[in-house]
Amino acid sequence: MTVSDCVFCKIISGQIPSLKLYEDQNVLVFLDIGPISDGHTLVVPKQHFTRLDECPAEMLGSIGACLGKISKAVAEAMNADGYNVLCNNGRAAGQLVEHLHFHIIPRKNGDGVFNRWPAYNYEKGKAEELAKKIKGKLSV
Ligand code: AMP
Ligand code: ZN
Repeated sequence: MTVSDCVFCKIISGQIPSLKLYEDQNVLVFLDIGPISDGHTLVVPKQHFTRLDECPAEMLGSIGACLGKISKAVAEAMNADGYNVLCNNGRAAGQLVEHLHFHIIPRKNGDGVFNRWPAYNYEKGKAEELAKKIKGKLSV
């Protein structure tokens, strides 16, 4: 996929319409066209990045600076009891639009939106082994 094929780049450039909720120099916020709850909102950097780890820290700072404020407004407007902020990275994780974005999903008590959370327990020693492996990849 090239940037010129990207549906969110087209929304940002105005080639495709959207229901805009907020905009600043770096970020565009609009309603998701295929909501999983009323008010499902997308927060999108105006610059094209595919994954979270490709987005520079300053840009993530700009997104983070408005994410809480937008989430609060969306949740209050929908009379939500809570909300999820979700960022899918890669097909395996459910990313269909390959332009970095954050979902804000307003939630009601007992709405059953994410009914399956397939948690399990590590076998003995596995958690320590995995923690070591991950720390070995961290260069911060
Ligand atoms: P993801 O699976 O994380 O890539 O989510 C992509 C989201 O973009 C989905 O929830 C879609 O409903 C949404 N989406 C795709 N096209 C549009 C569009 N033209 N306007 C608004 N939302 C869109
Ligand atoms: Zn894009």
